[in-house]
Amino acid sequence: MTDLHRLSIREMAEGLKSAQFSSRELTQHYLDRIAKLDDRVNSYVTVTPEYALAQADAADNLLKNGTAGTLAGVPLAHKDIFCTQGIKTSAGSKMLDNFISPYDATVVAKAKAAGLVTLGKVNMDEFAMGSTSESSFYGATKNPWNLEHVPGGSSGGSAAVVAADLAPFATGTDTGGSIRQPASFCGLTGLKPTYGRVSRFGMIAFASSLDQGGPMARSAEDCAFLMNTIAGHDAKDSTSINKEVDDYVANLNATAVKGLRIGIPKQYFNVQGLDAEVKARVEESLKTLESMGAILVEIDLNMTEAYVPTYYLIAPAEASSNLSRYDGVRYGYRCENPKDILDLHKRSRSEAFGAEVQRRILIGTYALSAGYYDAYYVKAQKVRRLIQQDFLTAFENVDVIAAPSAPTTAYKIGANLSPTEMYLGDIYTLAVNLAGLPAINAPVGFDKDSLPVGLQLIGNYWSESQLLSIVHQYQQNTDWHTKRAAIAEENA
Ligand code: GLN
Repeated sequence: MTDLHRLSIREMAEGLKSAQFSSRELTQHYLDRIAKLDDRVNSYVTVTPEYALAQADAADNLLKNGTAGTLAGVPLAHKDIFCTQGIKTSAGSKMLDNFISPYDATVVAKAKAAGLVTLGKVNMDEFAMGSTSESSFYGATKNPWNLEHVPGGSSGGSAAVVAADLAPFATGTDTGGSIRQPASFCGLTGLKPTYGRVSRFGMIAFASSLDQGGPMARSAEDCAFLMNTIAGHDAKDSTSINKEVDDYVANLNATAVKGLRIGIPKQYFNVQGLDAEVKARVEESLKTLESMGAILVEIDLNMTEAYVPTYYLIAPAEASSNLSRYDGVRYGYRCENPKDILDLHKRSRSEAFGAEVQRRILIGTYALSAGYYDAYYVKAQKVRRLIQQDFLTAFENVDVIAAPSAPTTAYKIGANLSPTEMYLGDIYTLAVNLAGLPAINAPVGFDKDSLPVGLQLIGNYWSESQLLSIVHQYQQNTDWHTKRAAIAEENA
């Protein structure tokens, strides 16, 4: 079969169960596509054909015995921020270009235990800092919809592999938008779960109080399958929450769209820099939801102006602390012929960290330094609480909140935005992480250059099922999520 990559996750799982094709065939199909097409997309940092085929054979055995779990034999790609035992985990950095983890991240271990097949590890902004995937040591990933544009970031590789059909779905991480924004730029569905829903164990830390892993796929249904696999409490992550996990697949129609109250924050739709076409597509999608019975309610989120400055203090502060472990001693890059220990630390870090990572470390270290800690870091934490409060007040009156995922469609590669221009592009996603809330991106159309536009729905804590269900029903009424980039239409 030449079109296995067109199947949904449900269809793949059913096809495997009913022996229409084997996991080996399905896996080889993707490996062939990667070999043929990925030169143009640059989405994989590491492809693991032998490992994948061995996992596929193991899944095929389970399928033959009738003991296979729901997703056994279905392939996926992992963002190169999740530690994989025996396979390089680079976090997109020269610092970890030689790093092979001795253990699996919990997300990876859960995927393995479910019988999912790892095709490889995919590209990302260095240490997940960025919005374009251009800061990777492995070069820029291309947007499958237009190879001259970025796929977004930091989970740009995860978005590109799915949009080019080089993997059926992928894991991503979201510290300030890194699942939702690349999903938006590549026409995908991506869910950032409530902080604590998915284990961070073995996920290379950027800003620990904000980082959260989640699924990126073509549809809400495909995301629900991956969420069923990766969500849940983990004793190895002290911030993971011990709370029952929903059956996200079974709940796909559980939320009534009729009567659903969707909050439209006034402040969000008046943001300077919101592209007129993005605004139009998002408003059209809200009209569609309204026609399905939802009630649109104008709301206030008064802290909007504080999102960017608050995040860009807290995230770099935590990053500067987290990244202090890369000292050239225990693992990672080590400079040649160090004179002494200080020279070893200094040169290893300045030779192996890229410009954006160094910028964040400098900002973060400054904000945490003795004289400025109260003025910057403590102040930012207080504002963070006000931002959270703003959402909680809003949720007294509405069920979910709608916003664009990003103010624009995908930038051109090499557009060379200044750091502040780039940071302002995160205006719609950062607050969700600051408050620890879940949010989802759904594709809702295209701009005049045929680049995808995304709608973001933000839910209250633990509302992942609700968000997936709303988007699932939207996707039953529309076909944006079924559109494919030209490169995805090519056969291997
Ligand atoms: N673009 C944001 C940043 O650069 C968010 C990145 C992320 O979510 N990992 O920090």
